[in-house]
Amino acid sequence: MANRPAVLMQLVASAYAVAEKAGTIVQKVLQSGELGIVEKSGANDLQTLADRLVQKSICASLSKSFPKVTIIGEEELPAEAVEEDLIENGQSSLILQKSCPDQYASLKEEEVKRNRKQNMVIFHLSQLVVWVDPLDGTKEYTEAARVLYSPVYIQKPEQPYRAPNRLLDHVTVLIGIAYGGTAIAGVINQPFYNYQMGAGASLGRTLWGVLGLGAFGFQLQEVPDGKRIITTTRSHSNKLVIDAVQAMEPHDVIRVGGAGNKIIQLVEGKASAYVFASPGCKKWDTCAPEAILHAVGGKLTDMHGNAYTYDANVKHMNSAGVLAALRNHEYYLSRVPQAVLQALPSN
Ligand code: AMP
Ligand code: MG
Ligand code: MG
Repeated sequence: MANRPAVLMQLVASAYAVAEKAGTIVQKVLQSGELGIVEKSGANDLQTLADRLVQKSICASLSKSFPKVTIIGEEELPAEAVEEDLIENGQSSLILQKSCPDQYASLKEEEVKRNRKQNMVIFHLSQLVVWVDPLDGTKEYTEAARVLYSPVYIQKPEQPYRAPNRLLDHVTVLIGIAYGGTAIAGVINQPFYNYQMGAGASLGRTLWGVLGLGAFGFQLQEVPDGKRIITTTRSHSNKLVIDAVQAMEPHDVIRVGGAGNKIIQLVEGKASAYVFASPGCKKWDTCAPEAILHAVGGKLTDMHGNAYTYDANVKHMNSAGVLAALRNHEYYLSRVPQAVLQALPSN
């Protein structure tokens, strides 16, 4: 009989299937035009029906299959029964066929330790932690919807993907997997990938990666000619953010929404560094993107060059900003202004 796939590969294979279902939920809510927008801390910190449904779907599905793994989602939702149609039980067979990197092959959902003196068996919760951002780029999602359902566009309801400015590309679903505090695997679904390519193109895609195995679902590319193209926030900027970007002496600056989207730009050669000198991003924003970037040799740190950790008890806020690059991370780090380092202490 064939060996059962390693727990990590099963978890990634489930996360892949769950992320694909999540992508269809995000598409459907947009098509319905009823976004159910709620302001959290303010007008730039929003939650929609899609954020709520997707988080319920991901958390309920993964905790059904992996009851002992800690799952942390962005949204604070009332504890209530989850509708059966939100549950995804599937797993990507392609991922199950890949062999698990040796260093993770023996990871367990639950760790058993024997205390020989007292002849006792002690169960410890797994050090596996799943970080879920049900919808990254919510601000851009709501802006795209506002344009789509404005009187100008509403005349063409059969073409719901006519949103301008490629805003729907900024939207992703992020499922990050950490072990012992390190981001080791990630799945990113981009529900509206190809949305401007016409009816023949298949809508949406899923990228995934595991440290030691690589990353899949996209073509790895570098920015040509050593150009410094900086990607940064479009809706959460401030003076420090702008100063840090300018200090990189960029040839070009791209302002887009979403942490997931910006890491996709790094691995597809659209941008060379992601620079965000501000608190605001949380662990669920960076866990999956970091794992995928690291799986292809890139690096994501705070503005001091220090790694973030992802164990279950860690502070959610990435207070010291985000600095990420596929190549030459040390160059960008060397350019971070003193004023930024002082304003955003590492902890
Ligand atoms: P952005 O690049 O602005 O799209 O931010 C990436 C992620 O960090 C998104 O999930 C944002 O919601 C979150 N984020 C960044 N800055 C803030 C902020 N000031 N308030 C709330 N969320 C933020
Ligand atoms: Mg987010
Ligand atoms: Mg979110």
